[in-house]
Amino acid sequence: MRVAGHGRQAGGTPRAALAELLTGNRRFVSGQPVHGHDVTAAAAAAASGDQQPYAVVLGCIDSRVPLEAIFDQTFGAICVIRTGGHVLDRAVCGSIEYVVGQLGVPLVLVLGHERCGAVGAAVDALRTGERPGGSLAHLVDEIAPAVTEVGLDDPAVHPLSIRRHVRRTVHTLREDDLLAGPVAAGRVAVVGGLYDLSTGEVALLDPA
Ligand SMILES: [Zn+2]
Repeated sequence: MRVAGHGRQAGGTPRAALAELLTGNRRFVSGQPVHGHDVTAAAAAAASGDQQPYAVVLGCIDSRVPLEAIFDQTFGAICVIRTGGHVLDRAVCGSIEYVVGQLGVPLVLVLGHERCGAVGAAVDALRTGERPGGSLAHLVDEIAPAVTEVGLDDPAVHPLSIRRHVRRTVHTLREDDLLAGPVAAGRVAVVGGLYDLSTGEVALLDPA
């Protein structure tokens, strides 16, 4: 089986990059990863030249969602950014701008996941009126609009807010100063997905 290691092999288009990622997830789900068994220094060394990743994945810090593993990706294939509830800040946006602008990566995937604790914290904060202190407040503040849009009265507020928050994050990135142009031109796609903790499957929220 031919497995793309970087952007050129993946075709360099948003569509080809997305297909490559989802194919990797299917390998993971089927229990037949190509790279999962090869997390070795030798594999790392084989990719130690100039990096040519084909996608950037923004996901949550949740320990159950290791992004390279669930997409069965090897060294040099994808750039990964993880924050609580995939919340954006300037460092995250700057990192994505770098990967897209300087490395020519055509795809940004925002990946939420079921039972996300960060989204749960935002739901709890709005429900109790108790805003957490420290920088945790930033995470809650950034996720809260999604919860408010769904509505605290909705019995499925947690799962629905997870989806809404992914879509809001995708929307924000599509409007980013340095990403909006390439997105409008079709050279770059920003898409949202959801990871199922039980099955290991990644589903696109708004398939093309
Ligand atoms: Zn999470």
